[in-house]
Amino acid sequence: MTTKLLFRDDFYLSTAEGTVTVLHEDGAIELDQTCFYATSGGQPGDIGFFERADGSRIEIATTKNGATKDIILHVPAEGQPSPLVGEKLTIHIDWPRRYKLMRMHTACHILSVVCPYPVTGAAVGEDESRIDFDMSEIPDPLDKTTATERMMAIINQNHPVYLQWITDEELAANPDLVKSKNVRPPVGLGRVSLVCIGENSSIDSQPCGGTHVSETQEVGPVYISKIEKKGKENRRFRIRFGTPEETA
Ligand SMILES: [Zn+2]
Repeated sequence: MTTKLLFRDDFYLSTAEGTVTVLHEDGAIELDQTCFYATSGGQPGDIGFFERADGSRIEIATTKNGATKDIILHVPAEGQPSPLVGEKLTIHIDWPRRYKLMRMHTACHILSVVCPYPVTGAAVGEDESRIDFDMSEIPDPLDKTTATERMMAIINQNHPVYLQWITDEELAANPDLVKSKNVRPPVGLGRVSLVCIGENSSIDSQPCGGTHVSETQEVGPVYISKIEKKGKENRRFRIRFGTPEETA
């Protein structure tokens, strides 16, 4: 069954009503609609809980896609009770965790502005994120301090972050919009969201199906904690919350 993806239109929706449409043998639950984000594009799926009519809870350990992007599988933690097909639930994502992931994910976009090289891999985490860049052609790559300063400048300028929707066909006709070499843009739903930073995309715009904050200042203080060489071509940048002094 396909699910109405509420998180696509409102990243800040932390709770919603949902009706169980499918129960899988392995326990995974499908709903008619959900605000739970499914693991993809380097961003981990949401965790949280489903609240039943009697107030009891079904804890959700992770969220992933089924065969297609519009099938969302909510995977309960071990030993949780199963709901019934047709049962109405109030669903709650672990908002403090998700909000950190939104801040981190936005920080990753800002790093890709500061470090404008092809992205070969990325992983968003609650405490630390990493992006791998192909920097084989760059003789004098950025150091940690400069990268941090440039990121914080964009964050402190408080640019708006918003989505623009284009069709899969428009994206196919404009391949330059895609920075990631190995991270596929979120096609397959008919329309693709471009994540834009700054008025008229003055800072950046790139296709991404993840969740982001709505202005750069919300990211808060972040810094590049490490730059590692990964093979001949790749440099792995690690982003952490806070300032380098706090953790030194
Ligand atoms: Zn993104």
